[in-house]
This record gives sequence, structure tokens and C-alpha cells, in this order.
Amino acid sequence: MLALVKTSPGPGLRMETVPDPAIGINDVLVRVHKTGICGTDLHIEAWDPWAARTIRPPLVIGHEFVGQVIQVGSNVVNVAPGDMVSGEGHVVCGRCRHCLAGRRHLCADTVGVGVGRDGAFAEYIALPATNIWRHWPGIDEEIGAIFDPFGNAVHTALAFPVLGEDVLITGAGPIGLMATAVVRRDARFVVVSEPNPARRELARAMGATVVVDPRERDLGDVQAELGMVEGFDVALEMSGNPAALQSAIANMAHGGGIAILGIPTQEVTLDVNAIVFKLLTLRGIYGREMYETWYKMTVMLQSGLDIRPVITHRFSFRDHEAAFAAARSGSSGKVIMDWTA
Ligand code: NAD
Ligand code: ZN
Repeated sequence: MLALVKTSPGPGLRMETVPDPAIGINDVLVRVHKTGICGTDLHIEAWDPWAARTIRPPLVIGHEFVGQVIQVGSNVVNVAPGDMVSGEGHVVCGRCRHCLAGRRHLCADTVGVGVGRDGAFAEYIALPATNIWRHWPGIDEEIGAIFDPFGNAVHTALAFPVLGEDVLITGAGPIGLMATAVVRRDARFVVVSEPNPARRELARAMGATVVVDPRERDLGDVQAELGMVEGFDVALEMSGNPAALQSAIANMAHGGGIAILGIPTQEVTLDVNAIVFKLLTLRGIYGREMYETWYKMTVMLQSGLDIRPVITHRFSFRDHEAAFAAARSGSSGKVIMDWTA
């Protein structure tokens, strides 16, 4: 099969012919139809310090996909050839305290698809059946391709109740954009802070009440404009930028909750006095819940949530260099590669 491979330590990726993946009795073989490009894939392509520490080439990269099941192992009963499926990007150990208790998202021993084992940027992928999510018949394949990052957005958006609350979202990358559409359904105000004008525009399309450039406008000012008096009840940190988390803490209401998904690449100094005296709750978010978040994503989409505006670019897998350039540009939403065309 054709696959996009990190062939050796260093920058770049190569489209190569590699053996089709083999499946065991508990595995599922999927013909990949469409994939999404994630920041992780950009890190691996660029070979930054994290990638150099983490990745052992040769490796087929990628973990956001949708495809059709073509073969299942003899032990697999819940998935059948023909099903449209996506895959959870974390393969858990299945044996630790949390896995045994059903809290698989808390497993401390996960292996990342396209990170620690071969991934989805290929014509075929094999995964354990326990990592397969079956979609409803007729699902839009492009939406199926981005269930994994949509799951990050939904898991973060559900960290604190937002019904009737005022929500701050810092960072309108693909995940912040999808979170905007999710919380928009229930919150009063959704303020999105994002320095990139193209992404502020997308945030508006996803339903933000107000979008702000954090370099130009203070959040206190935005609160006054909206008639808010007590601060934000909930903040979703989706930028990884230390200044964003700091400004969220400074603008929270007493008793507020901050869900932190963004991964800082530098040390962050926090005003612990503000956290204490405002009685804030800060909660780290990693991945998605297996499979409660997947269930919620499905139900939200089936009841009218529209995340399609987050998809801004589409390419054939043969144009992977252009696809990666679009994702790297910083102004795109989700970038989809089609593995059938
Ligand atoms: P992204 O890098 O595309 O988006 C981040 C956005 O934040 C950018 O648009 C950037 O312009 C904006 N930003 C920068 N400085 C800002 C500031 N001071 N205030 C407000 N916005 C600012 O990333 P993404 O793919 O949408 O992911 C969002 C974050 O979540 C990243 O940090 C990513 O590494 C992280 N992530 C975490 C998990 C997890 O499981 N915890 C999973 C996926 C991604
Ligand atoms: Zn485990």
C-alpha cells in the first residue's frame, strides 16, 4: 500500500510503498478514505525536539481518519466489513487500575496511533477492535475524518457546565473553533480570543458572540461591552500560549473553571493568589473519553450541531506537501486528505 512515512530521523516525510498491515484475531483492517492533519503530524514532519525524543522511524504517521472496514479478526463481533469507522488515537494498556475501572482516558500507558505505532496516513490501517468507533450509516466522511480532534473539543467543552454561562475560549485553532460551535448551543456569551484575523473570522462563522485580538483589546473591555459584571464562568484554554492562560485567570468570575487543553512549549508563571482567592478550578484535558465523548459527539451532530465550517482545505493524498503547507500556514481550519482519489 501507499503510506506517508517518516523514514529516518530528521525533517520531511516520504510517500512510500510499504507492506499492507497484518491483523490479529482482535483487530480490524480499515481502508482509509479521508484523514485530517493534526498539529502532532506537523511536529513529526518538522522533526522538532518533541518528535526527536518521541518518534522511532520508520513510522507511518497520522491518526485522524475515517474509512471502511474490509476485514475483522476471528474474535471481533461488534464491527463488520462495510462499516464506516474512525479510530481512537490512543491504544490503552487494558490492565492498569484506570483501564480496569473503565476510565481508559486516564491510562498512563497509552500508545499513540501514528506516534508510537503505525498510523492512518496510508491506504490501510489495522487497529484493535476496542479502538474502533462505528459511525451511523450515511455520515459525512469529512466529519468522520475529524472525530478525533472534535473529541478534544467536546471533551474540553464538557469539562464544566456551560448552560447559561459566559465562556472564554483562548485560541481559535481547529479545536478552539469546534469548541466554539459546541458551547455556542448552551452558553450566553462565547468570547473567542485569537491573534490571527483569518481564524477570528472562522470563529465568527462557528458562532462566537465576540472575537478579540488579544494584542489589541483587553478582555475586561469586552466584558464591559457585553454588560458582564462578574467575569467568565468557564474558560477553555486552547492556544498553549502562557499569556492566554494568564489573561483567562485574570478575567474569571469567582468559582469559575478553566479547562486547559493547549500544550505550552515554555514554562508558564501563574497568579496562584488569583486562583486561590477566586476559588478557581483548573483542569487538565488530554485526549477524549473512551467512549463517552465519542457518543456525545455523535449525538450532538445528529441533533443539528454543524462543524463543517472548520474544514477549509481538501487535497488528494498525492498532494500531501501542499496539504501540510496549508496546515502549517496557521490560517487554515482543518485540512483533509482524500486517500481514494
Ligand atoms: P493551533 O496551534 O492550530 O491553534 C492555536 C491557536 O492559538 C492559534 O490559532 C494561535 O494563533 C492562537 N494563539 C496564540 N497565542 C494566543 C493568545 N495569546 N491568545 C489567544 N490565542 C492565541 O492548535 P489546535 O490544533 O487547535 O490545538 C490547540 C492546542 O491544543 C495546541 O496547543 C495543541 O498542541 C493542543 N492539543 C492538545 C491536545 C490534548 O489532548 N491536550 C490534543 C490536541 C491538541
Ligand atoms: Zn491502562
